[in-house]
Amino acid sequence: MKFTELNLEPSLLSAIQKLNYEECTPIQQQALPPVLEGKDVAGLAQTGTGKTAAFVIPLMERILRARPVAGDISEEQKTAIEKRAFKDWKPQNFVLILVPTRELAEQVQDNVLKYGLDSGLRGFAIYGGTGYDKQKEALKNGVEFIVATPGRLIDLYKEHLVDLKQVRAIVFDEADRMFDMGFKDDMKYILQRVPRERQLLVFSATLNFDVMNTVYQFGSEPVEINI
Ligand code: AMP
Repeated sequence: MKFTELNLEPSLLSAIQKLNYEECTPIQQQALPPVLEGKDVAGLAQTGTGKTAAFVIPLMERILRARPVAGDISEEQKTAIEKRAFKDWKPQNFVLILVPTRELAEQVQDNVLKYGLDSGLRGFAIYGGTGYDKQKEALKNGVEFIVATPGRLIDLYKEHLVDLKQVRAIVFDEADRMFDMGFKDDMKYILQRVPRERQLLVFSATLNFDVMNTVYQFGSEPVEINI
C-alpha cells in the first residue's frame, strides 16, 4: 500500500512525500485503515517498524478532515471525508499521546512536527525533570497533539492547565514499558478523566495481561494488530 493511495489531505501527503516515504510499512498497512475509521486499536509493534507514523498520520488526517471542505467535490467524496473526520472537532480538542519516557516524548513530538509541517498542526511534549514555564505557555496557546509522560501530565491537569475533557483520541505508546515503570495508577487516573467517546490506541512490544486488560476495559471493540 502506498501513501498516495490513501486519499490523504494534500497538506498531509506533501509532508509525507518530503520525507520520501512511499510504501507503508507492515504496521502502517494494518493500522492506518482502522485508525482512519475511528476504531480503537491494540497493536503489537516494536520500535523501528514505523509505528509512530502508524498512529500520528491517520489521527492528523482525522483532524484535518474535520475542517470545512473548500471547493467543489462530489457527494461520494464528501461522504468519504465525513466518515474519516473527527465528529464536531473543536479548536480546544486535542489528541493525547502518553509515553513512558522523556526521550520517547521528544521522539514522538519530532514525528508530529515532521508530519504536521505543511498542515499547521501543532504538537508539544510535556515531561518531568524540567521547568514548567515553557510547557505552560505552549498549553495556553493551544495544540492539536500533546505528547506526555503521565506524571507531569497529571501535575498540569491538577493545576487546570490541561483539560482532559477535550481529549478526542488517546494513544499509549510502548504501553508495556509504562506498566513496567509503575505508571499503572497514573494511566488509570487519566483514562477515567477523558471522555468515554474518545478513540483509544494502544501500541506495545508485548500484549501482556496488563496491556490487554486496559484495552478491553477502556476500549470499545478494539481491532487487534500483530505484525
Ligand atoms: P518508528 O518505529 O516510529 O520509531 O519509526 C522508525 C523510522 O522509520 C523513523 O525514522 C521513521 O521516520 C521511518 N519511517 C516510518 N514510516 C516510514 C515509511 N513508510 N517509509 C520510510 N520510512 C519510514
